[in-house]
Amino acid sequence: MSPVFAYGDLVLLVDRKKRRYLVRLVEEGQFHSHAGYIAHADFVGQADGYLARSTRGATYLAVTPTLGEFIIQMPRGAQVIYPKDIGAILMSADIFPGARVLEAGVGSGALSMGMLRVGANIVGYELREDFAAKAVSNVTAFLGAEAASRYRVELRDIYEGIDERDLDRIVLDLPEPWNVVKHAQTALRPGGILFAYVPSTVQIARLHEALVDSAFGMAETIEVLHRGWYVKGDAVRPDHRMVAHTGFLTTARLLGEIE
Ligand code: SAH
Repeated sequence: MSPVFAYGDLVLLVDRKKRRYLVRLVEEGQFHSHAGYIAHADFVGQADGYLARSTRGATYLAVTPTLGEFIIQMPRGAQVIYPKDIGAILMSADIFPGARVLEAGVGSGALSMGMLRVGANIVGYELREDFAAKAVSNVTAFLGAEAASRYRVELRDIYEGIDERDLDRIVLDLPEPWNVVKHAQTALRPGGILFAYVPSTVQIARLHEALVDSAFGMAETIEVLHRGWYVKGDAVRPDHRMVAHTGFLTTARLLGEIE
């Protein structure tokens, strides 16, 4: 990444009311708002953190988006997993460089991006063609061609089985992960980790029931609470509002070989 903005770069614009806009700089491009416009050429050659001014005098802070900021702003098909959970998933599912990961469903590709960025090789199973296409285009837009070459998405139903063998990790974000436990036993290598993200407690109970009757052990479920703080002078307190619930994170480890 160059130290100054160039054509082709993604730029996050933040206005005085903290509203955010994601822009890809293109030649002859213009960013339009209620306060006139800014030519993309104005950003080119400026450093990260540049304060741009529109034709009618509004100011916009221009910064390079983080992965978390991109995920919040990117085009979505399915509901994405939020950055606070993606961070925790990378640790609890122990995603590492070169890990062979099967992911289903891929949805908009938010979780895929987190795993690709730490170096995983991903095969994705996804039911919907439009979501699969969106996931691949989001991955390419933010992470580029090298990451996209470690990402292959197939249109198929994981409940019907898994072709891959000797996987290091299986990562699930779909409604009935217990339907995957049997397939995961033969697709993972011993010591491999099965991870599932579900929004409701009934799903946790059903998943653990399936895990008890399986070759998996060390099953654990957590949730991640993330509370923002308001900090202005001496007024330092938690934000009044928070996202109080997203989903539960469950992991289990495959113990020993299956006959
Ligand atoms: N984790 C994704 C969001 C996944 S949304 C993200 O962060 O962007 C759940 C996805 O699972 C949907 O796209 C849905 O089409 C897909 N899905 C549901 N059941 C499936 C199945 N049995 N096999 C494969 N994909 C499935």
